[in-house]
Amino acid sequence: MARDSAQSVDVALIGAGSIGIAVAYYLVRRHGVRSLALIDPRDPLSFTSAQSGENYRNWWPHPVMTAFTDHSTTLLEEIDRLAPGRLAMTRGGYALVTRRERPEDLIRELYRGYGEMAGRVRIRESATCDYLPPKRTPWEEAPDGVDVLLNRDLIQRTFPSWAPDIAAVIHVRRAGSISAQQLGR
Ligand SMILES: Cc1cc2nc3c(=O)[nH]c(=O)nc-3n(C[C@H](O)[C@H](O)[C@H](O)COP(=O)(O)OP(=O)(O)OC[C@H]3O[C@@H](n4cnc5c(N)ncnc54)[C@H](O)[C@@H]3O)c2cc1C
Repeated sequence: MARDSAQSVDVALIGAGSIGIAVAYYLVRRHGVRSLALIDPRDPLSFTSAQSGENYRNWWPHPVMTAFTDHSTTLLEEIDRLAPGRLAMTRGGYALVTRRERPEDLIRELYRGYGEMAGRVRIRESATCDYLPPKRTPWEEAPDGVDVLLNRDLIQRTFPSWAPDIAAVIHVRRAGSISAQQLGR
């Protein structure tokens, strides 16, 4: 919005990318800020934020990042509940795949990344386990944690288009996509 150059505000935020917009949103909603300007020579969300793959996940190699992205995902969920469907939020998960039979180093890294929440890692060695295949929507129905699939029959049945020699799949469940442009709006 065009403003009188003499007008003053309590908070001036430089940059109307997704970070500036998110900071503005939480300053207003949670911290009672009523007078705020977002300053940018470009259209909102038109720079780096326009390039995003629009994916989110809570798996990272360090527990601090896992906690941080878990918190961030909870905030996304809150916004999605306020305006159901507007974010086009999905939760198919992230699948990390390898032809190695039992990638112990990757599994160790997974436990390290989840830290105290390592109980969320489920090792699936049988084709007849209660593993839930990916389901993008509604995101509320997706399980939490991570499934590590180490059984080729289970992998082939779940992902029939994948190469038959894929031997292990790390399926991070709290992960998916959103419309970043819609989120900014
Ligand atoms: C190819 C690609 C794929 C990505 N995929 C994902 C993904 O899947 N998931 C994910 O979470 N993240 C992803 N990211 C990262 C994510 O897009 C960025 O971290 C995020 O968009 C950064 O937002 P920002 O607001 O910090 O920056 P920007 O969107 O770059 O916004 C900064 C704004 O500041 C303005 N500005 C700069 N200097 C000034 C100034 N002096 N005065 C006024 N305004 C100024 C700019 O014009 C710009 O509009 C991806 C990034 C890229 C490049």
